[in-house]
Amino acid sequence: MKGRKVVENILEVAGLSKNFGGVRAVDGLSFSMEPGQILAIIGPNGSGKTTCINMITGVLKPTSGTVRFDGHDITSMSRAEIARLGVTRTFQNLRLWSTLSVLDHVLAARYCRTKSGFFPSIFRSRGAVAEEKANLELARELLALVGLSDLESALAPSLPYGKRRLLEIARALATEPKLLLLDEPAAGMSSSEIDQLINLIFKIRDRGISVILVEHRMKLVMAASDKIVVLNYGQKIAEGTAEEIRGNEQVIQAYLGTAYSREVDEACH
Ligand code: ADP
Ligand code: MG
Repeated sequence: MKGRKVVENILEVAGLSKNFGGVRAVDGLSFSMEPGQILAIIGPNGSGKTTCINMITGVLKPTSGTVRFDGHDITSMSRAEIARLGVTRTFQNLRLWSTLSVLDHVLAARYCRTKSGFFPSIFRSRGAVAEEKANLELARELLALVGLSDLESALAPSLPYGKRRLLEIARALATEPKLLLLDEPAAGMSSSEIDQLINLIFKIRDRGISVILVEHRMKLVMAASDKIVVLNYGQKIAEGTAEEIRGNEQVIQAYLGTAYSREVDEACH
């Protein structure tokens, strides 16, 4: 139609389910997101959030349902194929090498996008040298973005927990994703670290990257999300803006009596 721009969804999840034996970890989940949105998936422990991320990124195959990303049906694709299309995630449990520096960690993540592969220096063609230089520049730019420039030479395991999570985000960004999925990025962070993380997520979005945030910390969810999907026992019980989710009776019920009800309460008042 003339004058009206149709925005295609970057992600469409339709009727997604996952059974583990008798447990229906995710049950008929549908939602969509537009490019450049920040979408949060929240819900009590065991409600299926990580399983959902695992299905979108190809770590787990759905029992039923479909996932479309950027115009492709990725439901049956391998993790590597999905990653190549531009979907990158961070893990709830961190994975760092003990002998690599902070900068090396970001460079290593970068090599999956590099033409010359992991050992460009063997031949050192002019192209490979130029690529190495560009990789180094991008790695430093990303460390600056997440606020770790001063620590580029430190060994990664020497970083405090909150900073390790920032390094993991820099590593994920080094693959130049279109969609970045963050699984509990604020776990173990102090309140001021969460404020920095909120700023970082906005900066990531400003680079044109869509973000899915799986998170318990309501301060982060309420401040950063354009849209929130609430899971309980694998089912979507609500979807809306932070404002809409705050007052939703079903959401409040799902969280009552959990360790998170206090945080929900704090974030809502
Ligand atoms: P959340 O991330 O919301 O805490 P999960 O997606 O990790 O929840 O888990 C949802 C449900 O699926 C839980 O009941 C959990 O025990 C179960 N589950 C998750 N992964 C597996 C697995 N690999 N094998 C069996 N059960 C699993
Ligand atoms: Mg989880």
